[in-house]
Amino acid sequence: MNDQWLYPSRQERPSKPDVDTVLVAGAGGFIGGHLAKELAEKGFAVRGADIKPLDDGYQVPDGVEPLAEVDLSKLEDCRAAVQGVGTVYNLAADMGGMGFIETHKADCMLSVLISTHMLVAARDAGVARYFYSSSACVYAADKQTDADVTALKESDAYPAMPEDGYGWEKLFSERMCRHFLEDFGLQTRVARYHNVYGPIGSFEGGREKAPAALCRKIAQAALSGHHEIEIWGDGEQTRSFMYVDDCVEGTLRVTAGDSPLPVNVGSSELVSINQMVDIIEQIAQITVKRNYKLDAPLGVRGRNSDNAMIHEIYGWEPSIRLADGLERTYRWIYDTLASRQSRTTSLVGD
Ligand code: NAD
Repeated sequence: MNDQWLYPSRQERPSKPDVDTVLVAGAGGFIGGHLAKELAEKGFAVRGADIKPLDDGYQVPDGVEPLAEVDLSKLEDCRAAVQGVGTVYNLAADMGGMGFIETHKADCMLSVLISTHMLVAARDAGVARYFYSSSACVYAADKQTDADVTALKESDAYPAMPEDGYGWEKLFSERMCRHFLEDFGLQTRVARYHNVYGPIGSFEGGREKAPAALCRKIAQAALSGHHEIEIWGDGEQTRSFMYVDDCVEGTLRVTAGDSPLPVNVGSSELVSINQMVDIIEQIAQITVKRNYKLDAPLGVRGRNSDNAMIHEIYGWEPSIRLADGLERTYRWIYDTLASRQSRTTSLVGD
């Protein structure tokens, strides 16, 4: 047997890690970047690990030690990343919006290597606390067939029939967190995020999710004067969307708390995609012609977050209104596209 899997004896275990040093795995990504920034602002020594090179959209907030180009699907890279760390936040995964996860099921499932090796490395390094970012995609498909939804409570993940590929990996990794707590005493905490959106996230290229994609399409319509966009499905599918600041706050609360149970961290403000387009139109102050692409990847018909459990345990739930979060997201995407457009125009003018 390969000895990398053996649990080190007590004598071999490292000295107590520094509780003020935290690792954000996936810090080059959307939520990880926002989380790393918040932790650095709170005074933690933050190490931010990602497979991305620093010049590939990896935003490094002040006070964050970047660990770029580490492959956390490899155990040796996980061991290097957790060295001396008190708390691990694992947000590293190969993922994207519905267009990505429905066409990359094997890639999504391969994130299990990250989930597994991060847990093994954290356990062996004597990490005090370990946070895992799970997803609403763990919920059973047969409870999400109607746009007029009953919000999903945590127990609805079983009997299991999660989103194919991505959701199965998340559910499996949640359970691994539970068993690392039961068998090895690693203090694991798990949040099930529901559709997170906000500035400094993917909004093009295939990994973007509905809010960012719709903001981009409407911003492009506003910039080009061609007021027409494509919508995936009939637009009547429903979801709730959580602004990234709420996601970061929820992550910190769940990690600091005493409950190891997977808990929804999501907004309970349910909207259809058509209603979200209405909101973005108001922000952009234009109206667009909507072309519905009925054969596009859609995911489940309706989903909302039941927040009774997060409320009961943490006395808190995400509360940033969709209209407010979309306003900030739209502005960021619009400004990014506009400055790109003006750079191109000035280059052509040169
Ligand atoms: P993201 O794609 O922006 O960030 C993930 C980061 O992980 C990326 O920067 C990527 O380069 C990095 N990564 C991937 N493979 C890696 C590897 N082998 N080694 C090191 N780094 C690697 O995604 P996000 O939206 O910030 O999501 C963060 C976490 O939250 C993920 O686990 C995701 O599944 C979960 N989640 C996100 C949402 C959402 O709506 N964004 C919803 C539910 C769950």
